[in-house]
Amino acid sequence: MSVTNFPAKPATLIEHLGQFIADTLTRCTRCGACFKACPMTGYAPGLPAADAQDVVAGVLGLLRQEAGTADALAWIEACTQSGRCSAACPEGINAMKMMRVARMSALGSLGAPRKIAPREEKGFFRRIGAFSQLQFSADEIEKWQR
Ligand code: SF4
Repeated sequence: MSVTNFPAKPATLIEHLGQFIADTLTRCTRCGACFKACPMTGYAPGLPAADAQDVVAGVLGLLRQEAGTADALAWIEACTQSGRCSAACPEGINAMKMMRVARMSALGSLGAPRKIAPREEKGFFRRIGAFSQLQFSADEIEKWQR
């Protein structure tokens, strides 16, 4: 079996995120299924009346390091990483990861200006588990915790 069709393994976190962003922007059809499946949309200002496709378009804008929209930022802030979005995506996109990367963008961690404040509750133990599996260096962890 040939392995030549697999994409090159990213050497850095930035490369990994860049590949994920490019893949998501290519494959996402903006159907809005992820937003509609989210259990948190009833708890954020503006979202119960928001158009799902418009909200997703704002999230994709954040992946492009654009300004995003108020509704996209509200959805990102309401996200509790339930994973319902990923299960609902007909394109097989990891929508929960899409939201996490969009949150990184909104926090200013990917180079664009910060648009939201960090959470007061850092989810300390959950982050330890996630970061330990990724085997980041101390410097990388410090950078991505901003
Ligand atoms: S469900 Fe998937 S394809 Fe549809 S908007 Fe969300 S991420 Fe994009």
